[in-house]
Amino acid sequence: MTVHPSARNLIRQAWPKPGPRPARTRNAGESRTRKIVDLRSGGLCERCGGSGHSVHHLLNRSQGGRWEPTNCARLCGSGLTGCHGWITTHPDEAWAEGWHLKPWERPGDRPIHSRVHGVVLLADDGTVTPIEGVAP
Ligand SMILES: [Zn+2]
Repeated sequence: MTVHPSARNLIRQAWPKPGPRPARTRNAGESRTRKIVDLRSGGLCERCGGSGHSVHHLLNRSQGGRWEPTNCARLCGSGLTGCHGWITTHPDEAWAEGWHLKPWERPGDRPIHSRVHGVVLLADDGTVTPIEGVAP
């Protein structure tokens, strides 16, 4: 299809080329949470104590889970391997250990069973509170 030159100018004015895209930035919650989780975990997988490579959301982001230290844990593997993969493929067992939350549960309310911390509740300031009387 050919467009008359004067029509082309009208089209350019009506739909100007977009300017440069704004730089992608991580939101402040993600950066802050990653720092706190790094410090809390010491770089270890908070489930098994191995080397941690990824950050897992206890309440999935697709279900409203946020970048908050109570909702995030450092794990080994990825969505398909290591502890991260185990949680993805074993949601019921992961729920029993506190690594997976149901949509109606609030992060920080269920203890995690961790080789690094023991059985603890996570707090948003990066601290953990041991749950007495529960074997890890
Ligand atoms: Zn692990």
